[in-house]
This record gives sequence, C-alpha cells and structure tokens, in this order.
Amino acid sequence: MAAKKCPVCQWEIKEDGKQVKVDGKVVLVCCDECAAKVKAQPAKYINPR
Ligand SMILES: [Zn+2]
Repeated sequence: MAAKKCPVCQWEIKEDGKQVKVDGKVVLVCCDECAAKVKAQPAKYINPR
C-alpha cells in the first residue's frame, strides 16, 4: 500500500487520514489541524497535476 503524505506538514498519512473537500477536490491530510489549513489556503496546498 502506497503511503501518502499530508500536503500541509509532509507527514506520512496512515489509515486515519482526514478528507477535506475544497474547490471540488478531495484532499487527504493527516489531522483536523491540517484540514483547517487546507480550507484556509487551498491554493497553497493543492498541486494540480
Ligand atoms: Zn498534516
């Protein structure tokens, strides 16, 4: 299983990651604190591919 990293703190996300929906995208972060940061500044943490 590939490990994902939290876009906010770069911490490796385990099974209990948090999903945040911003700008129509679902972002997986590690915790509620990072989820709040993504919501506050989505452009800073979301890298479109
Ligand atoms: Zn995080």
